[in-house]
Amino acid sequence: MDWPGKLTTLVFFQGCNLRCPWCQNVSLIDPRRGKEVDTEEVLRHVGAHKPIVDSIVLTGGEPLLQPSACLEISKEAKKVGLICAIETNGTASQALGSLLPYLDLVAIDVKAPLDDYHLYEEITGFTGLPKLEQKVRESLKLAIHSKVDVEARTTIIPGLNDDAETIARIAEGVQGVDCLRLQQFRNQRTLDPNFQKLPSPSREKLLKLARVAKQKGIKNVKIFTVEGGLETV
Ligand code: SF4
Repeated sequence: MDWPGKLTTLVFFQGCNLRCPWCQNVSLIDPRRGKEVDTEEVLRHVGAHKPIVDSIVLTGGEPLLQPSACLEISKEAKKVGLICAIETNGTASQALGSLLPYLDLVAIDVKAPLDDYHLYEEITGFTGLPKLEQKVRESLKLAIHSKVDVEARTTIIPGLNDDAETIARIAEGVQGVDCLRLQQFRNQRTLDPNFQKLPSPSREKLLKLARVAKQKGIKNVKIFTVEGGLETV
């Protein structure tokens, strides 16, 4: 995760409840993989780097599938003076609600318009999870009404959400966030190999879509591409 100006320790949680066919964190999806580690060990590791790092980011996979570990780590991080963020797919809204008091930044995936269950299902791999987009909506609402900074993130995927109309609808659904970040789909390694045949959208394309989001009233829009890194539009 890019947290501008911060030196961060990333804590990766194994396992995800979604199966986005374009996912690039393929090795983190299966909960049976990875290695079981005590939160105490994680905290020892984080503490050891404290003089250098000033922040901690919970990421995955989906960290909120292990809510008590997230809580324990973020509470302790606060105690030792670290600031704390989470990257989440937004489907575990209840767990997010309990964690918010210990966070400084929440980055929530908004993969498709939040009123479009069918596209949300398609883009997340037809997991059969009910009311997926409603859970994400709930997560956003909780985060926006808390004191944390909220970043909505949309990966731009060719043929699924890379048109102006879809981005306009996404922007309409995330009003109130501190930032919307559009990030570039990369085709090197994907859960569904068919996605490796698709081109990564260009920086120019992302700039164009970012302007659409700005026209919809999102003041702070960023794009993240291999060509240009993180840029404010
Ligand atoms: S891209 Fe989708 S499948 Fe991959 S880790 Fe994120 S939410 Fe899970």
